[in-house]
Formats: sequence, structure tokens, C-alpha cells
Amino acid sequence: MSVQALRSSFGNNCHWCGLPMDFAEPRSAPESATIEHLNDSTLGGVRKQKHRRLAHAICNQTRNEFKLQAERGFQRWIAERVEAGLASAANQPVMPAGTSPAPPVVPAAAVAAALHPAPAAVLSGR
Ligand SMILES: [Zn+2]
Repeated sequence: MSVQALRSSFGNNCHWCGLPMDFAEPRSAPESATIEHLNDSTLGGVRKQKHRRLAHAICNQTRNEFKLQAERGFQRWIAERVEAGLASAANQPVMPAGTSPAPPVVPAAAVAAALHPAPAAVLSGR
């Protein structure tokens, strides 16, 4: 649906602020009419014709900026939550008290070297 079609459906005023929009070409001014996608595909929604409205470029842009800020804030919160969760998981005892700790993992090469010591001649430089 074009700007003109939306204009005839919804009128001359911005979906968000209700103030009249500028329909002059090119529509690059802050007060220019732009198509607003109410259900933004970047946030997982599906772009549908019926979700389109006209809004000032500045209202549209500012709304997107606030959504990005909210998303960034949420991502920070998630990162902190995960970090806090990992920290508390690290403080949990892995085994019940009284059991002996698991043996350290020894590389197979070190085990082989211990079982079959190399001849003294090979260990040159000693
Ligand atoms: Zn507006």
C-alpha cells in the first residue's frame, strides 16, 4: 500500500502524534509522511498491509530508536542474568560433602611416559 493509498484510508495526520504530515516530495523532512509498520518484522513480527499506517519521519525514527534502546537494555539485562547464574552455579558444591574429589585428568602421553620411561640416552642434555 502506497503513501497515497494510506493517506486516503487514514487521512493526513500522523498515526502517533496526530499532527498533520508533510506530503511534499521528496519525503525526506522530519515532518514528512512515512509508512510506519506497526508490527515490525525486525522484532519477529510479520509485515502485513493492514499493519501499515502513516507517521511523521521523525515519529517513526524516534519510535525505532526507543525500541532499539529497549532491546539493548534487555540484552544487557540477559547478559547480567546469565553471568549471575553462572557465578551461583560455580559456587554450588558439585559433589556431596565427604566424597573424595575426582582424580585429575592425566594426558595419555604422560601415562605412557610414566609406564615406559625413555632410555637415559634419549633424555640428552641432563
Ligand atoms: Zn508524528
